[in-house]
Amino acid sequence: MTEMTKVAGSNTPSNETLIEWDRMHQIHPWHAMDAWRGYDNMLVDTAEGIYMYDSTGKRFIDGPGGMWCTQIGYGRKDMAEAIYDQVMKLPYTSPFTSATEPSAILAKKIADMAPGDLNNVFFTTGGSTAVDTALRTMQYCNNRRGLPEKKMIIAREKGYHGSTYLAHSVTGKERDKSHFDFETRLVHFLPDVNPYRRAEGQSVEEFCDEKVADLEKAIAEIGADKIGAFIAEPILSSGGVIVPAPGYHKRTLEICRANDIFYISDEVVTGFGRLGYWFASEELFDIQPDFITSAKGLTSGYLPLGACIVSDRVMEMMSDSDEPSSFTNGYTYSAHPVSCAAALKNIEIFENEGVLEHVRAVTPHFQKRLRDLMKFKIVGDARGMGLLGCIEGKAEDLEAEKKLGSQIDEACEARGLLVRPLINMAVFSPPLIITIEQIDEMFDILEDALQEVQDNLN
Ligand code: PLP
Repeated sequence: MTEMTKVAGSNTPSNETLIEWDRMHQIHPWHAMDAWRGYDNMLVDTAEGIYMYDSTGKRFIDGPGGMWCTQIGYGRKDMAEAIYDQVMKLPYTSPFTSATEPSAILAKKIADMAPGDLNNVFFTTGGSTAVDTALRTMQYCNNRRGLPEKKMIIAREKGYHGSTYLAHSVTGKERDKSHFDFETRLVHFLPDVNPYRRAEGQSVEEFCDEKVADLEKAIAEIGADKIGAFIAEPILSSGGVIVPAPGYHKRTLEICRANDIFYISDEVVTGFGRLGYWFASEELFDIQPDFITSAKGLTSGYLPLGACIVSDRVMEMMSDSDEPSSFTNGYTYSAHPVSCAAALKNIEIFENEGVLEHVRAVTPHFQKRLRDLMKFKIVGDARGMGLLGCIEGKAEDLEAEKKLGSQIDEACEARGLLVRPLINMAVFSPPLIITIEQIDEMFDILEDALQEVQDNLN
């Protein structure tokens, strides 16, 4: 191990030392094990607005918005003050036995924002625990209803729902599944819903019929009496910003209702403004699900918090029994008062500064600049909605294609833009406060980077 070096004239470890300690002692999520201890992570130092700065002072546009979460941008003093005030007032109390002002107000606010009768909020520590809670609530509910066999979960290929045992078990990203164990008895996956991957000559409408038929077929084969829930992101984000065909959401919800299958809409990415609305399910896809899971943008990433929002209908089913039982699901940090105070400040900023309206106003420009990228030969598809976008690279040789994501990432990073590479794709979800000029700055860099990657391929 190397000696610790310090910043001249202080006791602060130098950047080289910090990178070394990180490499030697920190286990990062999703790190390649074959590159274990051979990889230097970028040492991120400060951030302001939509920009991040590394330890050398180099500036980057935060193209992925952290991990789809830094909605109001970095460096908000009012947010820091709200967090400080709550820490001084009450930093913690057990959610098992007590209520707090921020969590009660936040629950009421979310109930007012959520569609239909989704009036009940269970706070969690993030997205995975929100998904876990939704799935366990379905199991609990069906046990209470005397339907212990009705537990299968229908999920979809390319869907991502988190990293707890159950949330990862319903995740359909094959590449993320090597060497771990998963719950396979309870989960059935439907094939890819990406219209870009439809058969040659097939219309989008025909593709939609096929995808709806996939769900019907699964129900017919497994039996509705065995299926408890269908879980779906409105847009499959980590799977490559896959926007299912128009009408798909509504038709699948109707099928679920007809078969007494709970519909869980995983809005961990699409919620809290990413698509210009608090939640996308009802406003954009015309569905009122039984559960909505949320996290990320709920606090704009300032503190960890998730929410599993449950309909009155499900709550009534769960309580409609004389048999006493408590809902033994929860976490030490459920409804953490400081996280709830951060979420309330986040919502206040959204409301006072018209963040949702801003997203809706800049979306056409963002989506136009995104689709203009189709002019590059190496871009096979450019898709997205709201301030969520993805380019899917294409090359003649499949091996070359698989490297496109990381090549685009490298070329962008060298020019001061961070993107999120996913195999042959690059994904963007910048802070929602991004201006038209900054959108242009981002896409100008991207075009320059794509040109370089394309030239190098030829
Ligand atoms: N659900 C979706 C749709 C996600 O994209 C993610 C994370 O990216 C999760 C759940 C898991 O959230 P977390 O990482 O906060 O546990």
